[in-house]
Amino acid sequence: MGMRTVDEHLTEILGSVAALPPLDLALLEAQGTVLAEPVSAPVPLPPFDNSAMDGYAVVAADVAGATEAEPVTLPVIGDIVAGDAAVSAIRTGLTARIMTGAPLPAGADAVIPVEWTDGGAATVRITRPAPVGNYIRRSGEDVLAGQIVVEAGTRLGATQIAMAAAVGRSRVVVRPKPRVVVVSTGDELQEPGAQLAPGQIWESNSYMLTAAVVEAGGVGYRQATVHDEPAKVMEMLEDQLVRADAIITSGGVSMGTRDVVKEVLSGTGTVDFHKVRMRPGKPQGFGLLEGTPVFTLPGNPVSAYVSFQVFVRPALRAMQGLPPESSPTVSAVLAEDVKSPAGLRHFLRGRLSFNRGHYTVAPAETQGSHQLGSLAMANALITLPEDAEALPAGSHVEVMRLP
Ligand code: AMP
Ligand code: MG
Repeated sequence: MGMRTVDEHLTEILGSVAALPPLDLALLEAQGTVLAEPVSAPVPLPPFDNSAMDGYAVVAADVAGATEAEPVTLPVIGDIVAGDAAVSAIRTGLTARIMTGAPLPAGADAVIPVEWTDGGAATVRITRPAPVGNYIRRSGEDVLAGQIVVEAGTRLGATQIAMAAAVGRSRVVVRPKPRVVVVSTGDELQEPGAQLAPGQIWESNSYMLTAAVVEAGGVGYRQATVHDEPAKVMEMLEDQLVRADAIITSGGVSMGTRDVVKEVLSGTGTVDFHKVRMRPGKPQGFGLLEGTPVFTLPGNPVSAYVSFQVFVRPALRAMQGLPPESSPTVSAVLAEDVKSPAGLRHFLRGRLSFNRGHYTVAPAETQGSHQLGSLAMANALITLPEDAEALPAGSHVEVMRLP
């Protein structure tokens, strides 16, 4: 069990995970996945000049003198509605009633909104002039033919899905969401909803980590907790390998007598265990089992969470073809003095706030790795570098925002 830095451990992980192979999905099945191809427009948008208002298509020069006192009256030659083929035409002295989105008739160069008229059906009285181009949406003014409208590497939300549909795409090529199996180990763990017997605690890590997988863009599959029995742990891993793009375990990787995950996985596949120079989260294991990345996180809930943010989230991003960054960081001013162990990267729970033009971060009072209470109240992790030992209030620190 060697010692290594956070960066060394992360580098090993990122060197072993690959982007998942692209998949062609129906548009709505692709929600939340990352686009693996650029989506471009085969035609301009709008595809044709059309009306931005319900009104009348005119020759602007015909209504140049129109006022309330001296309206211009024009004969209406017909109605053009959205969906009509663009075959109609007008010429000077004539108008056609036109609806929003309907193709502009040839010869017209302005649309008079119905509010500027008496709304007439056979003839119409127009009481205001309009410049050329009034309320006309020009072909290509949204998107040009051939233009890339959603870049490869974009996560598909509602607006990107709309854009793909609007350029005629029913399917897109994406990186699928990584399917991540999450399983906790520990004889002391009881299911939430059941009664606690003496010595038991309610199991929380698998819920936390499954939710964190979803926050990171994956699909989380929470498994029932496994007892601290080597055969059971091995059996569970073998069962899950077939359906998982990655597996996350929690517990059983430190120096106790029942550290069953370490016992079972040491030397299996490429899995290796290390003490990582960080707090919390020192005991870490990672490796490939039949080609599947397995992250064995420590059992203390805060350790497991920090490990997820620091190591697993970047790996899940890489599997989605995204840059493997951890959560976005900001620079913030410390609200209180903090101490930090030399030689370790220290992650402190804190509350980040923005006031008077800068970020301030207040460290939580409790920082024990079992103290989920302060983690659930935190919105940020203060990241203190290995060489920091004591930082006074007012210092600038790097802060990782939590999802
Ligand atoms: P371990 O790494 O298995 O020795 O666990 C370290 C500490 O974390 C112990 O106090 C465990 O009871 C606790 N712990 C381990 N797994 C979980 C879990 N899934 N949910 C909540 N606490 C856990
Ligand atoms: Mg345990």
